[in-house]
Amino acid sequence: MSTIFAKIIARQAPADIVYQDDLVTAFKDIRPLAPVHILIVPNKEIRTVNDVTPEDEQMLGHMFVVAKQVAAEMGIAETGYRLLVNCGGDAGQEVYHLHMHLLGGRRLGPVLARRD
Ligand code: 5GP
Repeated sequence: MSTIFAKIIARQAPADIVYQDDLVTAFKDIRPLAPVHILIVPNKEIRTVNDVTPEDEQMLGHMFVVAKQVAAEMGIAETGYRLLVNCGGDAGQEVYHLHMHLLGGRRLGPVLARRD
């Protein structure tokens, strides 16, 4: 089942695309959690990290290269940023098309709040 991200990648749904090539598309998150909040998404439809295969290794590495480039273009390479991938229910994955969040532009605080 395709998600909204497949439509965005195909430019059949609106999004603020900041980068696109044969392997990945990067666009602004519709509900940003930080001044910079970009989603880096494989053009290939992969539901979750659980569904990646060895054939995806080049594309998965490329996501980091694109993340670094976009971070520099957004002016947050030096101040720092967070790359985050949610997988499945406990992580709160909302859109089942693999994606990496690029977050920055403010102090982000701890990754997780302690429960104790
Ligand atoms: P997840 O929780 O699955 O890791 O993150 C999904 C992200 O996709 C959320 O931050 C959410 O705001 C974003 N999102 C959901 N639907 C859309 C959409 O239609 N357009 C854009 N640009 N972002 C979306």
